[in-house]
Amino acid sequence: MSNRRNPNARGYRTGYLRSVPWFQRRDRWFAREAATGSLACAACNLAGTPREFELHHVTYSGVVQEGQRWVAGEAHEDLIPLHPLCHELLHWFIDTDPILARHRSREDATAQALPKVLARVGGNAR
Ligand SMILES: [Zn+2]
Ligand SMILES: [Zn+2]
Repeated sequence: MSNRRNPNARGYRTGYLRSVPWFQRRDRWFAREAATGSLACAACNLAGTPREFELHHVTYSGVVQEGQRWVAGEAHEDLIPLHPLCHELLHWFIDTDPILARHRSREDATAQALPKVLARVGGNAR
């Protein structure tokens, strides 16, 4: 299995990420997170509003397809908020590292790439 954004997973994930069940799951995630009052980027730690963030899947294990229907079964912890730039950098670090891209679980690859994103964007005024 690859954590890269391309080959086989792309069609699957792209289809899901455009689906109504995902949009609803995303809204539920932000609603629950808002209840804690601590929404912040998982990479650079800057606080923000839902409109400023994308959600990264730490794992897609909760997502299944039943026929043509998607079931958004992600646990709350399966999703983390990231600025679009931080999200892009996270995937760049994973995609360009053969170990992270191919030889780690998506969870481990995400955990190892997040500090690299912080190191890259942390010094910038944003
Ligand atoms: Zn960020
Ligand atoms: Zn992502």
